[in-house]
Amino acid sequence: MLMSQLYAPTLREVPAEAELISHQLMLRSGMIRKSTAGVYTYLPLGLRVLHRVMDIVREEMNRADGQEIMLPIIQPAELWHETGRWEDYGAEMFKLRDRHERLFCLGPTHEEIITALIRSEVRSYRQLPLRLYQIQNKYRDEIRPRFGVMRGREFIMKDLYSFDKDEEQLQESYTAMYEAYERIFARCGLDTRPVEADSGTIGGDMTHEFMVLAESGEAQVVYCDSCSYAANVEKAEVRLPEVEGEDAAETMQAMARVDTPGVTTIEQLESFLGSKADRFVKTMLYMADEKPVAALVRGDHTLNEVKLQKHLGCTTLALADSTTIEKVTGAPVGFAGPVGLSLPIVADCAVPVVRNAVVGGNERDLHLTGVNFERDYNVDTVGDLRQAEAGDGCPRCSGTLVEAYGIEVGQVFKLGTKYSEPLNAAYLDESGRERLLLMGCYGIGVSRTVAAIIEQNHDEDGICWPVSVAPYQAVVIPINPKDETQRDAAEAIYRSLSAESVSVVLDDRNERPGVKFKDADLIGFPLRIVIGPKTLANGQVEIGIRKTKEKYTVPVDDAAQEAAKAIQR
Ligand SMILES: [Zn+2]
Repeated sequence: MLMSQLYAPTLREVPAEAELISHQLMLRSGMIRKSTAGVYTYLPLGLRVLHRVMDIVREEMNRADGQEIMLPIIQPAELWHETGRWEDYGAEMFKLRDRHERLFCLGPTHEEIITALIRSEVRSYRQLPLRLYQIQNKYRDEIRPRFGVMRGREFIMKDLYSFDKDEEQLQESYTAMYEAYERIFARCGLDTRPVEADSGTIGGDMTHEFMVLAESGEAQVVYCDSCSYAANVEKAEVRLPEVEGEDAAETMQAMARVDTPGVTTIEQLESFLGSKADRFVKTMLYMADEKPVAALVRGDHTLNEVKLQKHLGCTTLALADSTTIEKVTGAPVGFAGPVGLSLPIVADCAVPVVRNAVVGGNERDLHLTGVNFERDYNVDTVGDLRQAEAGDGCPRCSGTLVEAYGIEVGQVFKLGTKYSEPLNAAYLDESGRERLLLMGCYGIGVSRTVAAIIEQNHDEDGICWPVSVAPYQAVVIPINPKDETQRDAAEAIYRSLSAESVSVVLDDRNERPGVKFKDADLIGFPLRIVIGPKTLANGQVEIGIRKTKEKYTVPVDDAAQEAAKAIQR
């Protein structure tokens, strides 16, 4: 490809709306252009990268016994009614009507449509396992599309669905996908970490998210500094506190009333009483399925509502309003405590071991000190209810948890019978008995992966593409293309590289060298070959590695071979 012909409109200025570095660089290097909020056109460079990523995904899916299909984007509402998700999906779903007033949606995901296909096609255990995938556009009407292709309303996903006869076979599919994902992201030049996640509204028994650790990530994760444990903060467990701690040795004091006028927050209480937050027990009032319940966490900890909801097994959970709080505790907000409270009470594991705790007194401007579990108050259940944070003990080993932000690029899910049951997708087993199919679903955000690669592979000058996904692997730059010797040498190297199947661009533009170098760095060709008068006079050309900025000269006749070698490395 000649640079003079390449349709890659680079920008000097960073568009104001682009917050993320990947969004800025995709616009500046001429990979994408915005069509409307959250919807993008891929220009040649952008599409080439997308195709490289898709090639890797496709190869690894096929290697893991996946078979590619193409499901429709337009899906009938009836199928979504069968699983009850037409309503559940809410405003995020793009809905449309045809000329006969029938309702459809633009597929945000494809569990319904593929299960409906399989239920009428698969009859016997002999047809299992079955792993089907597609790489296709998905549509979600995000309330706030942003970050370029990272959070778009139209985006490209690879989704594979596995159909298995039993738990063992499902586990095999899950493992095969998990391992394929590790290979895919490594081949894309990404450093990812599989983290345990909460299965949330999609349901199912087990799930891992593949996270690209990056400052700009929207997902908060914790990982262990010594073993491979990693989890989304919503899900992350913490090591249970030692029962025989320092606290346990402390003598129990008598419970005392302390006037605390206007002191309603932990910070105020810390300065008022001059003791640390880990000596306080916070009492938070919730409405669980419309009934009040008190949840206790230590003063320096944060309650995790996902864990609390799971612990209580309720369908709805919300903080109680001030009227309810006054009614059930007898005190305004900020003075609730477990002593004498006649409500169901649940406590985080770290609470019962707090000796001589400070708690709210259930009266205006009153706290209690010297409060001890069992002697002064009791709880109905104890569980892991708090948010994991940096410095907490790892639940799997003696290591310590570290906090980080991540970009979710893939997720693997065991769905079990969540979709096969409502859609009645069954098969006949070895003994002729009808059984429900066990399912798994496995997604990769393909367009988001491209953005994540840039987040992890860039510097102040632009993108540093890993060779495996680069739009072109090399650029050949004659300093002065009007000079016949330089031009001939450049063209010869360009032709030899093409013959070696290296994808290469020849910068034949009559631009200043500085402009060409700037564009080459911005676009991020992994390798550049510069043909200049000084080196060429000695029969040499210069090879430059984009990522390391390493430069060296090679004889002009060996240039193509040397460059091809450098690309293989
Ligand atoms: Zn660990």
